[in-house]
Amino acid sequence: MAAPRPQKLLLLLVVSLLAARRAAAWGKEGHIITCKIAEKYLSEEAAAAVQELLPAAAGGELSTMCPWADTVRFRYHWASPLHYANTPGVCNFKNTRDCHNSKGVQGMCVIGAINNYTTQLLTHGDSPKSSWNLTESLMFLAHFVGDVHQPLHVAFEEDEGGNNINIRWYKRKENLHHTWDVSIIETVMKKLYNKTLDTMVEGLNANLQTDDISQWEDCAKTKTTCANDYAVESVGLACKYAYKDAEEGTVLGDEYYNSRYPIVEQRLAQGGIRLALILNRIFDKTNRKAEATMPLYAAQ
Ligand SMILES: [Zn+2]
Repeated sequence: MAAPRPQKLLLLLVVSLLAARRAAAWGKEGHIITCKIAEKYLSEEAAAAVQELLPAAAGGELSTMCPWADTVRFRYHWASPLHYANTPGVCNFKNTRDCHNSKGVQGMCVIGAINNYTTQLLTHGDSPKSSWNLTESLMFLAHFVGDVHQPLHVAFEEDEGGNNINIRWYKRKENLHHTWDVSIIETVMKKLYNKTLDTMVEGLNANLQTDDISQWEDCAKTKTTCANDYAVESVGLACKYAYKDAEEGTVLGDEYYNSRYPIVEQRLAQGGIRLALILNRIFDKTNRKAEATMPLYAAQ
């Protein structure tokens, strides 16, 4: 085989550098999985509101729009800090201490974003019409509920949520953040789900137990979202599983994979269920007034 031309090599280098810089979020797959699970648990009223707000390009499926927030990062610079939150190297999250952007503006982190876009969406159906762009609010909210469940999205400032920790995922060189955004999902999909995203969604749905679900969201009597609780969980998992045994230069293989993929699966499922619960509460106005607890609708 002929050696690649210099221009081609340069292009490859630029592309791979860009990919490495992109400290994004659950990769595209993670966001789609979370939202596909959410779609199955929307009430009729919430599903109708979501349909009304989705852009035509979504083809009627929320999940197609869930990676959107990562694609507008260059256009919406201000939104970059909304994908995560940093702690000062500790395994707990405190909103007043940790939820701000680099200029110290409070609320500019993933938790603030979830609460903010939820508040905007609550104006849906108002008269006169809401002045917010509720299509974007919905697409942001759906994305950020996914992000806050990725443990390394609520992690240490010093290593930028694992972005600065270089490891090997089996033979491949990458950073620890990428391992949790993308590689564990890729590997589990290959090993357990026939390399198919829909099979993985089915598998995760089939494993959901009603008991689990009922314990996933019990903070909500008065609050609009429980985003703060999700963040506390994430940084706990980051310490207990993501950072553990994954220092700079480590080779992560079967042992790490086998004990971590169930955590990734659970976080994807929790993100999906909780997104559905938030959307049901936002859009299901009858239920919202009648009962403070959030209605969960089983898949039909
Ligand atoms: Zn993100």
